[in-house]
Amino acid sequence: ADISVKFYLSYQYRLEQMKLIKAEHEATKAALEVKTQFLSTVSHELRTPLTSITGSLDLVNNGILGEVPDKLKPVIGMAAKNGHRLANLIDDLLDLQKIEAGEIAFHFKPVEANDLVDEAVEATAGYATKLGIHVTTIPCEDDCRFMGDRSRLIQVMNNLLSNALKFSEEGSTVKVWVENLGSRIRISVQDEGVGIPEGAKDRVFGKFSQVDSSDVRKVGGTGLGLNITKQIIERHNATIDYASELGVGSTFRIEFDRLTERGGARIGQDPGA
Ligand code: ADP
Repeated sequence: ADISVKFYLSYQYRLEQMKLIKAEHEATKAALEVKTQFLSTVSHELRTPLTSITGSLDLVNNGILGEVPDKLKPVIGMAAKNGHRLANLIDDLLDLQKIEAGEIAFHFKPVEANDLVDEAVEATAGYATKLGIHVTTIPCEDDCRFMGDRSRLIQVMNNLLSNALKFSEEGSTVKVWVENLGSRIRISVQDEGVGIPEGAKDRVFGKFSQVDSSDVRKVGGTGLGLNITKQIIERHNATIDYASELGVGSTFRIEFDRLTERGGARIGQDPGA
C-alpha cells in the first residue's frame, strides 16, 4: 500500500507540474497574441492619419496650393521630412511584425538576378542623383537564376542600395554586381563610404540599432532595415554578410542557391513553409 501511495503522490505531482507548464505556455501565447494585435492596431491607426498629414504637407510644400511664403518654407519642409520619417518607421514596424508573426506569404518563382538588380538600381536612381553618387552595375554573363519572392527581394535590394548611398560621400561610386559561383548566385553591393567598425555585426543586423548613434542625426533611418532584410533572406534559405573597412567602404553580399536547367532541389518548394 505504501508503494501505491507514493506512486499516487508522484503521479499527482507530475500532473500538477504538467498543468503549470501548460498554463505558462498558454500565457506566453496569449501575451504574444496581444502584442501582435497591439502592434498591428497601433501601426494602422497611426499610419492612416499620418498619410493624410504628410500628403497635405507635400501639397503645400510643392506649391500646388499657391506660393508658400519664404518664412514658412523651412517649417513646412521640416514637418514634412519628419512626417515621412515617422511613416518609414511605422512601415518598418508593420513589416517586421508581419514577418515575425509569419503573416507574410512568400511567393517563390524563378528570379533573374540581373533583372532584379536593374529594377532596384532604377528605383533608387533618383536618390543617387540627388546625392551625387554614381551607380554602376556589372551583370552576370550566364544563366543567373534562383528561386525567390521578387517583391520582397526588391525590398532587400532597396535597403542595401539606399544604405550604400546613405553612408557614401558625394562623388563616390556604388558598384552592384552579380556573379555565378556555380551552385550559388552572389549579388554584391559595394560602396566607398564611411565603413563599419569591427565587431559591429550584431548591431548592423539587430533591431533599432545603428552602429554610430550620431547617424540618427546625419542620416535618417530606423535601424530596422537590415534586420528585416536578414529575415527575408533567411526565408529564402539564402545568406547575407558583409566585409567592411572604416573609411574605405563596405560590401554587402547576398547568396542564393542557383537554379539549374534540371532544377534545383528546392524548386517550387517554399523554404519558409
Ligand atoms: P538604418 O539604415 O535604418 O539605420 P539598417 O538596419 O539598414 O538601419 O542599418 C543598420 C546600421 O548598419 C546603420 O545604421 C549603419 O550604422 C550600418 N550600416 C548599414 N549599411 C551600411 C553601409 N553601407 N555603410 C556603413 N554603415 C552601414
